[in-house]
Amino acid sequence: MSAVLYRIDRHDTIVETGGVWDAFARANGGVPSAVGRPLWHFIAGKDVRATWALLLRRVREGRIPVVFVYRCDGPGVRRLMQMELLADRIGSVQFRSTAVSITETDTIVGRWETGSARDTVLVCGWCGRVHAGDWVQPEQAIELLGLHESRQPRLSHGICESCAAELKSAVSA
Ligand SMILES: [Zn+2]
Repeated sequence: MSAVLYRIDRHDTIVETGGVWDAFARANGGVPSAVGRPLWHFIAGKDVRATWALLLRRVREGRIPVVFVYRCDGPGVRRLMQMELLADRIGSVQFRSTAVSITETDTIVGRWETGSARDTVLVCGWCGRVHAGDWVQPEQAIELLGLHESRQPRLSHGICESCAAELKSAVSA
């Protein structure tokens, strides 16, 4: 399995992409041609942006790699990915993302990527759980939110409390 590789300069502009960038960009609501554009165009959701800003600041300050695992489902596939961030002396950051596990399955969230219904569901961009009062697995969310085949919601990416806490402790360790 090849890695998703990309690099931003110290102003957060994407200067290089490689590997299976497309899947990552799609999963984050972006488009594949990214070079020359700000990283922030590809990160949806206020909480997710804030978390990324914290991660980038930490990796640039410490110049140590920051590593975390996140979930990234696509149409027909359930993925668990590991992300490694590594800054250099002038503040550019390399992102290296590799698959921990890939399961071919018709994931619900994968189908939601193209959803067009007026309903919006908030999905944690790290663990893939869905906000339905509590953060629950997508299968449970369908029941709790009363979603049906004919009513595919639109996705909104966020971050759940436990992932936010985990990331914060990972970068402040
Ligand atoms: Zn989460």
